[in-house]
Amino acid sequence: MPELPEVETIARQLRARGVEGQKIQSLKINWARIVEPLSVSAFSKQVCGTTISEISREGKWLMFSLGSGKTIMIHLRMAGSLSMVPGPHDRIILNLSDGLTLYYRDTRKFGRWKLVDDPQEILGKLGPDALTRRFTRKYFSEAMLSRHRPVKPLILDQSIVAGLGNIYADEALWESKIHPERRSDSLVDAELEKLFKAIKHVLRVGVENQGTSLGEGKTNYRDLEGESGRNRAEVKAYGRSGKPCDRCKTPLKKIVVAQRGTTFCPLCQTI
Ligand SMILES: [Zn+2]
Repeated sequence: MPELPEVETIARQLRARGVEGQKIQSLKINWARIVEPLSVSAFSKQVCGTTISEISREGKWLMFSLGSGKTIMIHLRMAGSLSMVPGPHDRIILNLSDGLTLYYRDTRKFGRWKLVDDPQEILGKLGPDALTRRFTRKYFSEAMLSRHRPVKPLILDQSIVAGLGNIYADEALWESKIHPERRSDSLVDAELEKLFKAIKHVLRVGVENQGTSLGEGKTNYRDLEGESGRNRAEVKAYGRSGKPCDRCKTPLKKIVVAQRGTTFCPLCQTI
C-alpha cells in the first residue's frame, strides 16, 4: 500500500518527467467510481483543456493543481499507481499536450480522484505531514499523552499525523523499541523522543530509496517508471514474522492491533 515515501517518489518523478505545465488534452475514465461523487462526464468536462500547473503531496495525497484553480486530489489507497506505459488495469488515461500519456492503474479499484475547489476540503482534516516542520516534537508528545490508546493506531491515524501506513508504522515502532500496543499516555519523554525521530527517519530513508516494494505481485508498489522501490533491504519488522530480529535475533511475532497485522520483536519492544 503506498504510503508517504511511495507517493513522494511518484510526485518527484512526475515533476522530473515534465508533467507540470502540461495541458490535459483528453482523458478516458474506465472506472466511474474513482471520480465519485462527480460523474465521468462532469469530471472530464472540468479537467479537459486545463493545465497541470503544479504537482505536490501532503500525507498520502498526490495533488495536481490545475490552471482552472481546481485541484485533482489522488489517493492511491491499496494498489493505485501511475505509469507512463499502458497496462491491463488502467482506470484513467490522461493525454497530455507534449505527447505524454499518463496511466492511472489500480487492480483493486479502491483509489480515488477527487476534484476540489480547495485542497483544504480534504487536507483540513489531516494532521501535519510527518516530514514537514509542522510535525513537531511538542505537537507529537501532546498528541500521544492526551490520548489513552495503543500507540500503533494513533500513529496510523491520518488526523493525528499524515503519511504513515502499516509498513512505516511497524518500522518506526521497531526502531524506537516500543510495543505497538503500548498505551500512548504511558510513554516517557525519552520514548516519545525516540519514536518521533524514528517516524521521521524511516520515512526519510523510504523516500531516499524511492519506496518499499515487498513482492512481485500485481498489487505491489511500482513507481512511475514501473520500478520497485529499493527500501525492502531496510525493512526490519514489517512482513518479517518468524524471522530473527535484526538486534537480538529473537523471532519476530505477528499480532493484530486495531485490525491491522502488526509485526514486532517480543523482546526488544517493551509494553
Ligand atoms: Zn529484538
